[in-house]
Amino acid sequence: MTIISSVLNYNKTFVDQNKYEEFQTTKYPDKKAVILTCMDTRLVELLPKAMGLRNGDVKMIKNAGAVVSHPFGSIMRSILVAIYELKAEEVCVIGHHECGMVGLHSSPLLEAAKQKGVSEERINTLTNAGIDLSKWLTGFQCVEESVKNSVQMIKNHPLMPNHIAVHGLVIHPGTGKLDLVVDGYSTVHSSNNEIYSI
Ligand SMILES: [Zn+2]
Repeated sequence: MTIISSVLNYNKTFVDQNKYEEFQTTKYPDKKAVILTCMDTRLVELLPKAMGLRNGDVKMIKNAGAVVSHPFGSIMRSILVAIYELKAEEVCVIGHHECGMVGLHSSPLLEAAKQKGVSEERINTLTNAGIDLSKWLTGFQCVEESVKNSVQMIKNHPLMPNHIAVHGLVIHPGTGKLDLVVDGYSTVHSSNNEIYSI
């Protein structure tokens, strides 16, 4: 049985037995927060449980490494949509220890692509078109530094309102322990403190 057919079989039972009822909520985050975290498999259930989050509490954005790599890419757009359209008032960037993006370099990845049939000629076409694959396909050396960089990119974005607190955290993928790397409240105006009760 393929993955998708087993998923569809399970899904039929899920819907037929009304198992969705306990998850019903709205598109607006009850805790008025948007989280950017990593796509790591260990965080799929652990992160919300370790933070005491339920369906409907937050907007959740994921990518490899919990990185904002471009100020006008889809991650930054999603954060702005969460704030302006969905009433989020705080942003949490949550990296994690043992992240696959630590030490990721483009050359082994491109070598793997060649072994899977992507021609060198095609790769060269991208390079010749000005796409810097070595920069695009590279991770980071230190998760705390990466989280700080992403927090700065969000906080300093020209479309980001001043009163939004942007926090940085690192989670342990085994225990779920969270460490605060950037306290977003320290850089918002104190007169807005009353709205920061997550
Ligand atoms: Zn990761």
